[in-house]
Amino acid sequence: MNATRRMLAMQEVIKRVPVPTDKPENAQVSQYYGSDVFGIDAMREFLSEEAFESIMQSMNQGTTVDRKIADQVAACMKAWAQSKNVTHYTHWFQPLSGATAEKHDGFFEPIAGGRAIERFSGNALVQQEPDASSFPNGGIRNTFEARGYTAWDPTSPAFIWGQTLCIPTIFISYTGESLDFKTPLLKSLQALDKAATDVCQYFDKNVTKVAVTLGWEQEYFLVDAALYNVRYDLQQTGRTLFGHASAKGQQLDDHYWGSIPERVAAFMKDFEYESHLLGIPVRTRHNEVAPAQFECAPVFEEVNLAVDHNLLLMDVMEKVAIRHNFRALLHEKPYAGVNGSGKHNNWSLATNTGKNLLSPGKTPKTNLQFLTFFVNTIAAVHEHADLLRASIASANNDHRLGANEAPPAIMSVFLGEQLSSVLDELEKSVHAGKMSPEEKTKLKLNIGKIPDILLDNTDRNRTSPFAFTGNKFEFRAVGSSANCGGPMTVLNAIVTEQLIAFKKDVDALMEKNVEKDEAIFQVLKQYIIKSKKIRFEGNGYGDEWKAEAKKRGLNNFPTTPVALEAMISKKALDMFESLGILTHREQEARYEINLETYTKKIQIESRIMADMVNNQIIPASLLYQKTLTDNVSGLKNILSATDFKKAADTQIELIKEISERVTIIKKAADDMTEERKKANNLDSAKKQANAYCEKVKPFFEIIRYNVDKLENIVDDSTWTLPKYREMLYLR
Ligand code: ADP
Ligand code: MG
Repeated sequence: MNATRRMLAMQEVIKRVPVPTDKPENAQVSQYYGSDVFGIDAMREFLSEEAFESIMQSMNQGTTVDRKIADQVAACMKAWAQSKNVTHYTHWFQPLSGATAEKHDGFFEPIAGGRAIERFSGNALVQQEPDASSFPNGGIRNTFEARGYTAWDPTSPAFIWGQTLCIPTIFISYTGESLDFKTPLLKSLQALDKAATDVCQYFDKNVTKVAVTLGWEQEYFLVDAALYNVRYDLQQTGRTLFGHASAKGQQLDDHYWGSIPERVAAFMKDFEYESHLLGIPVRTRHNEVAPAQFECAPVFEEVNLAVDHNLLLMDVMEKVAIRHNFRALLHEKPYAGVNGSGKHNNWSLATNTGKNLLSPGKTPKTNLQFLTFFVNTIAAVHEHADLLRASIASANNDHRLGANEAPPAIMSVFLGEQLSSVLDELEKSVHAGKMSPEEKTKLKLNIGKIPDILLDNTDRNRTSPFAFTGNKFEFRAVGSSANCGGPMTVLNAIVTEQLIAFKKDVDALMEKNVEKDEAIFQVLKQYIIKSKKIRFEGNGYGDEWKAEAKKRGLNNFPTTPVALEAMISKKALDMFESLGILTHREQEARYEINLETYTKKIQIESRIMADMVNNQIIPASLLYQKTLTDNVSGLKNILSATDFKKAADTQIELIKEISERVTIIKKAADDMTEERKKANNLDSAKKQANAYCEKVKPFFEIIRYNVDKLENIVDDSTWTLPKYREMLYLR
């Protein structure tokens, strides 16, 4: 018999040795960190003082860069890039397809006499017009206005990746609508800066700027490239559509923080080295809960930069993995039955005075400021829980949320026992009308105690989608392949809206001559009461929580099409528009794009599933069935009737089982194809997404269940698909 592709792949895997890394022997990170970034140091070195000051100003204040200065910056960038043997440049942007986009142009320009020179003008740096009519636009761009613009974002430095100078840019349509993740993120930062700075004025007049900080934690799987290459489902959908569970999965909890295999360690070393050259501050690495699952986390940064760095890191990871004969799987759920991958978004607010607004302070005054931002964030999540849920909705994440140690699709906030009781206390002790001096002292004493309590507050609730972790909120429902810019924009927006409302409420009381601190306490109390139902300290994985959440009136949207609807609620549309982050039209387009992406993903999965059933699973099953039937016929020729019955019964059962399962999966695959055709003919993105979710996707389970049973009975040497037990154990 011919060896199956799977067996040939396994032979390759067995021969693997660790690939040597590029990282210079014994070099410390500080020696090469950021050397491929046109960062502040490179700018100071290469730019004139005037140009340097001007760039610093536009970075800090968001002012536009003067064209003359841009020319100078471009020339310097080119000189710097050439000193590193770079030949091309690209505007690097984040279209709504989810991946980053780049189109490389050479620096060289032909000149008279058949010669060429290298050139890079300020114009080429500042703006480009990609002919980009095939990026998702949700109907915003008609073909007659198919041009889009990319425009330089000087707040994120240019960098060299491969042989190309990459310039981070925003991406907008000819008519000015944003077509990317970065534009609304930057707008949300401006809005939040203003609202948060205004609120900070109650506490500290020196605060003139509030920035958002993000520290993401990226989970991912590695699989051997040879096995990946013969799993068409992994290649085309990022996840395994079939696969019988490995007997040993994560039940022994022996992978989490376990020792890292040598081959993997070599990969990590290289990928961290490449990341450090790019100024991505990755610092932490460890094994995750599932076999072959890992995590890396950087030191947090300003959110715009952190988002760019995360996108770049995903790209670096995928490329370096290939060098090491691995494939990095960034999908939220590459394997059924084991942990999925998330990307925890640690979010906080930082002032120009160096204060983390979500870090309790040393005095009652700074703690009142802490409580203000803390309670307002909770209130914002309460008010817009559905929108936050929508911000992390995707076909991929649907598999992860609520399964195998991932937070549920119900949004709630975890505060920890200590802070919960601080809020309860506040609720009890504050009352309308003037407070007595004793009451005030007691209150201040109470909140003055916060830092002490938090220091030994070690309780961590891994089951909450949105948890306070001492000095930041951790949004854990974000999927591993997502652009953090989406959920971060929403979080920034809802907190901005909340802070504006807070200031209005406090000012209104102060106008009625309520003293400032008292006014703040009273408004916070109202918010604490109003947002109570979003707080949950218990086990988010349990079914009791689902029932309890329902009682509380919290929504549980398990699938993307329904979850996305919150994006276009009047409340959401009005909020984004009034804050100047996204117009109705832009937000509606995003909704359409998300629906279309959902539909396409399920469509691709459904098609590849049917292909694999027809080309691989049924043929392998029938091949094995033929071995059995040949054997049974042979037995019949040589045995007496009684002996034959004894000898052949089990085999006949197997033959029948194979026929039954093959019939079921074939029929299901055909019926699924019919449902797909019907869905494709529906006349709106919403109807299509719903049909794919409700009519097409349910076949996945029927098919998979029977295929996985077949995997378990068919001869190992006949089965063509690498198995979970082979893919999940890296050697
Ligand atoms: P964990 O126990 O969740 O691993 P860590 O303290 O290691 O907690 O932090 C996890 C992530 O949170 C890291 O990426 C870290 O940089 C980030 N982080 C820490 N402080 C902040 C902050 N103020 N703002 C944003 N992210 C932060
Ligand atoms: Mg964490």
